[in-house]
Amino acid sequence: MTHFETDAIHAGQEPDPLTGAVVPAIYQVSTFKQDGVGGLRGGYEYSRSGNPTRDALHVCLAEIEKGTHAFATASGLAAEDLILRTILKPGDHLITPIDAYGGTYRLINSVYGEWGIEHSVIDQSDLVAVRNAIKPGKTKAIWVETPTNPLLNISDIAALAEISKEFGLLLIVDNTFASPYLQQPLTLGADVVIHSTTKYLGGHSDVIGGAIVVKDEELARQVGFLHNAMGPVAGPFDSWLVLRGIKTLGVRMDRHCENAEKIVEFLLSHPRVKQVFYPGLKSHKNHGVAARQMKSFGGMLSFQVVGGVEEALEICRRVKIFTLAESLGGVESLIEHPGKMTHASVAGSSLEVPEDLIRLSVGIEHVEDLINDLSQALDQFA
Ligand SMILES: *Cc1c(COP(=O)(O)O)cnc(C)c1O
Repeated sequence: MTHFETDAIHAGQEPDPLTGAVVPAIYQVSTFKQDGVGGLRGGYEYSRSGNPTRDALHVCLAEIEKGTHAFATASGLAAEDLILRTILKPGDHLITPIDAYGGTYRLINSVYGEWGIEHSVIDQSDLVAVRNAIKPGKTKAIWVETPTNPLLNISDIAALAEISKEFGLLLIVDNTFASPYLQQPLTLGADVVIHSTTKYLGGHSDVIGGAIVVKDEELARQVGFLHNAMGPVAGPFDSWLVLRGIKTLGVRMDRHCENAEKIVEFLLSHPRVKQVFYPGLKSHKNHGVAARQMKSFGGMLSFQVVGGVEEALEICRRVKIFTLAESLGGVESLIEHPGKMTHASVAGSSLEVPEDLIRLSVGIEHVEDLINDLSQALDQFA
């Protein structure tokens, strides 16, 4: 067995047999010549159904998430839609987290709601609440995000997997925040992993993409059927960018985590900071679970400031190295105000976030420069 860092660079990416090219070519092509009707070369006929660059990404994703099959999609939300359409019918029910990516909530609540899918929003760190929310015969899956966005709550994947098995549900984990370098839900008993590859897997803020990884043959067949039948596939160049990003995932994550820990330390000591949310903190409610299921605690954190919403917005304006932008997981540090940006779509719902909250996606710049930048922005209020 080779290690994660080795698989991330090599899985699905043997040198090209014809030319020796050491990285997969970008097969930017829609259709493939047949040698007589049905005479396919390598099984390829049309790029929605199959494309060599996307296939290389599928092999790599399956390997690094410890699944058997992966499917690359045009966005993270396309991956979510694909798995939900695979497993749900009108009348079915889902358990969703209290603190989730805003777009996930919008998809399940506003889009699937219209199609007769019910869902219960549950604090999944409370296993009793999860059990009580299951509607026998109707509930089909538990949708988990851990760590959550933007409050960095942690749920126990192995414990939720046990509950899922007991009731015959699927456990779907959105592993975007942790990345497979830090956490591998399929090894903890989850059935499906979802990614926005736009984030850490791509890692350079230059691609929108998503993925589904599964470990069951029959589920893979069903997802594969809809992947082709509905067509939310990742294009060849986007697939290639994600493959390239994955090669450096391990070293990037190490630095993201290291920088985030130092920034957390700085924020905790600052008089304008009211509370810091980071699973690496001993004081975090589920630090023990995080320490068990994650290799390290990631590059995402959020904090509340003492001066309320105006101060939070002003800090977002005053930083110079942190870029004010949505998204996360790239090499560059980003700052955002969830209440007015990423989570504006959940305002007024049970997922509403505090308005004095700031979220950071800590990049891999020199940490002293990042701390100095936050310091000059926060010190204006001291
Ligand atoms: C960004 C994100 C998504 C959605 O992915 P897109 O690529 O933007 O469609 C889903 N889940 C999480 C946790 C995300 O951060």
